[in-house]
Amino acid sequence: MLTKAGLKLALFYSALFFGFFWIFSLGLYVWMDKSIGDGLIVQQVQQQEQQGSFEGVFDEKSVTIAGNIALDQLKMILLVLNGGLLVVIPLTAWFLMRRTLGPVQAIHEQQRQFASDVSHELRTPLSIISGEIEIALKKDRTRDDYQQTLKSTKEETDRLIQLVEHLLLLTRMEQSKQAREMEAVDVTDLINQMIGVVQQKSKEKQIEILVTFAEESVIVVGQEALLKQLFLNILDNAIKYTPKSGKITIGLSQDKSHGIVTIKDTGVGIAPDQQAKIFDRFYRIEAARSETKGYGLGLAIARAIVALHHGEIHIHSALGKGTTFFLSLPLA
Ligand code: ADP
Repeated sequence: MLTKAGLKLALFYSALFFGFFWIFSLGLYVWMDKSIGDGLIVQQVQQQEQQGSFEGVFDEKSVTIAGNIALDQLKMILLVLNGGLLVVIPLTAWFLMRRTLGPVQAIHEQQRQFASDVSHELRTPLSIISGEIEIALKKDRTRDDYQQTLKSTKEETDRLIQLVEHLLLLTRMEQSKQAREMEAVDVTDLINQMIGVVQQKSKEKQIEILVTFAEESVIVVGQEALLKQLFLNILDNAIKYTPKSGKITIGLSQDKSHGIVTIKDTGVGIAPDQQAKIFDRFYRIEAARSETKGYGLGLAIARAIVALHHGEIHIHSALGKGTTFFLSLPLA
């Protein structure tokens, strides 16, 4: 579809340029044709006057010959120029078309990829739900069997709801430039709350969570609900990608203008070539795909939240040793 549009645009640019140059050439030729004779007559009269030989007539024949030669030369120049333009204009039009359509094409490709990722992520849980219902309906089952089926389909449905909610959140954040209702948020308190939220999970894996907080509370400017989501996503990942009996250390400090949070784990680590990609929507490292559940949206959401707060997020990681996330957010 875009190739056809590109071709049309290139043709339009070509027609525009050809039209312009042809009208210009024709105009120039007609103007020269009219003015060249007059110019030569004036020139000859002046020459004759200077020589004192002007007798009220001029040599019409020599003026006509000189005029024709000049016009022929102009015609040649214009023909050669327009011949050259037959090559230059389509090339320029093609280049301009690429410049115009390039960004449109990139957005189109992003949307296509997004639709394909979403469909892919929706298909798996929906197939599981459909499969389980189908098995349950094949013959009469006990009350326990039905309850088990309902429980498991509810789990999948909840995961689907979470996926859709995360997608909505991400789309809304990517559309706005700044978080609304910004307020002063106590990060020290917020992180403590989030540690409470993940405590059960960390206990199940015997993962110890240590904190090294600054003495004073760190207060940043932000939207509390979004900042909770940010810390939760990173903390949740730290637990998810750290094997049993690992350790997570959370640091909180501040410099002149920013609150700085570091979340360090002793987990599986991330290879250097994957480190930039993990912030992309739906990107999951292959090992994570097979070993843990997730949609690959957590860090895309984290990055979008940080961007809305005009902060920064980056990581330092060594494969097999662990990962540290660095977050900085403007102080209130
Ligand atoms: P999800 O956890 O749902 O897969 P995320 O966007 O949160 O999605 O993370 C993307 C990928 O980054 C994960 O699949 C995982 O491979 C990798 N990752 C994120 N956090 C960590 C971490 N702390 N340690 C190792 N790998 C991580």
